[in-house]
Amino acid sequence: MDCIFCKIIRGDIPSNKVFEDDQILAFLDIQPISRGHTLVIPKKHSDNILQTDEETLATTVKSAQKIAAAVMKATGADGFNLTVSSGAIAGQTVFHLHFHIIPRFSNDGLKSWPRSESEMESLEEAAEAIKIALAS
Ligand code: AMP
Ligand code: ZN
Repeated sequence: MDCIFCKIIRGDIPSNKVFEDDQILAFLDIQPISRGHTLVIPKKHSDNILQTDEETLATTVKSAQKIAAAVMKATGADGFNLTVSSGAIAGQTVFHLHFHIIPRFSNDGLKSWPRSESEMESLEEAAEAIKIALAS
């Protein structure tokens, strides 16, 4: 498959691997947000989290938990963000499911998401729409 992460899995493109088994690969992000920024991917290709089968997703998340603990230990980070982007508008640039483990340090200067005030009514509307979508 012509996918950069599939090429990394096959060894066609080099990477700084930190973990590998028959289902999972974890390697350092080539453009790290912080020291130790690691990507965890399933070897079975899916474009994004919605297209991933349940078993593969569960295995990937479990591996991400284990690897995040090791990243914390190795970097001495104070915390981490575990993120996954879905769709170009959300910032996804590689269309092979991947979880980012982004170590956070008290002095890293990274900002959190901006928040907005929401009227109770619009929260209720949004909750209603999601409940309907879940039930359909
Ligand atoms: P996203 O933008 O959430 O789709 O994440 C894709 C990530 O893959 C980015 O953070 C890139 O820096 C990273 N990336 C792209 N190509 C490579 C590569 N060859 N080796 C390691 N990381 C890569
Ligand atoms: Zn792929």
